[in-house]
Amino acid sequence: TPSSGTAELTFAVTKNLAAKSPAQRDEILQNPGFGTNFTDHMVDICWSEKGGWHRPRVQPYGPISLDPAAAVLHYGQEIFEGIKAYRHADGAVYTFRPDRNAERLRRSARRLALPELPTEYFIQSIRELIAVDGAWVPSGADQSLYLRPFMFAKEAFLGVRPAKKVAYYLIASPAGAYFTGGVKPVRIWLSKTYARAGKGGTGAAKTGGNYASSLLPQAEASAQGCDQVVFLDQDGNVEELGGMNVVFVYKDGRVVTPQSDSILEGITRDSLLQLAEDRGLTVERRAVSLDEWRQGVASGDIVEVFACGTAAVVTPIGALVSDDFEDEQPLGELALSLREELTDIQYGRREDKHGWLVRV
Ligand code: PMP
Repeated sequence: TPSSGTAELTFAVTKNLAAKSPAQRDEILQNPGFGTNFTDHMVDICWSEKGGWHRPRVQPYGPISLDPAAAVLHYGQEIFEGIKAYRHADGAVYTFRPDRNAERLRRSARRLALPELPTEYFIQSIRELIAVDGAWVPSGADQSLYLRPFMFAKEAFLGVRPAKKVAYYLIASPAGAYFTGGVKPVRIWLSKTYARAGKGGTGAAKTGGNYASSLLPQAEASAQGCDQVVFLDQDGNVEELGGMNVVFVYKDGRVVTPQSDSILEGITRDSLLQLAEDRGLTVERRAVSLDEWRQGVASGDIVEVFACGTAAVVTPIGALVSDDFEDEQPLGELALSLREELTDIQYGRREDKHGWLVRV
């Protein structure tokens, strides 16, 4: 199988001679924002049908040269991941459940007819980048280094078939605290016009096209004064937000999250639900209809609704808005308490009982 018995790769390292000075870097790390600053290096590994994974490199961060006929530019054969590296008080750097992101990248690869990157290579690519750019992992409260692994079809060929030449890259971007001045409940727009995924589609894969198709509904949400969109499936079941999973908390201690083969399986959600189970709560993964949501809130059976994902960790949902209704959502304590427990583990402030942290 692609995940076992894979020998370590030997990366060729080319140092960035134009790397930022420690003073320039520290200035960026004071206020990193999100997704606009990048570290001095990047990793790439080539894949070809004949040669498999080869030419692993660490090289200066910079533009990629692509043939204009590269398949990714035409047919969107592309997948990605999102994972953070955290600096602990002793200075060591850890990632959180990287094996899960590696597995999800392999699942996405299968759906997009891309080659599977072995889990060992995925984790090694993170180690190689941190080895040269470790100083970019910030140490401020709620700061992290956001890691963005991605893979795309680079073969120059306009025929519609899986590319025979593919590239895997890893870039990294320092990230500030998502919420400054406390976690703020979000207003969610219910999209009735647009769907994110369909049965048998690519909803469960982390592929660019899913995000491209979410941009217009997200713009609609913003125009309606909302922060995010929630998508339903064809049967009126709740799926997820554009970039976060949804969790419902019931009065009787059940914690329920939508399950379907067109939802992206969040690693944050899986971890929060494990922590909920550890507290004796009952976790249910099943279809949740919009009617169940609205009636549950109206009757008081649902006492909290929150969204979760790597970027924001946990965000309480404060309102569900559509063209013909606006339901205020109850706010409780579980979301924020699970958020604190999870971030405590990620930043090394609490025992990692499940062995989720991997030192890089
Ligand atoms: N759903 C979608 C569509 C996402 O893009 C993300 C972010 N990766 C999530 C859910 C949450 O996944 P995770 O907790 O692994 O970040």
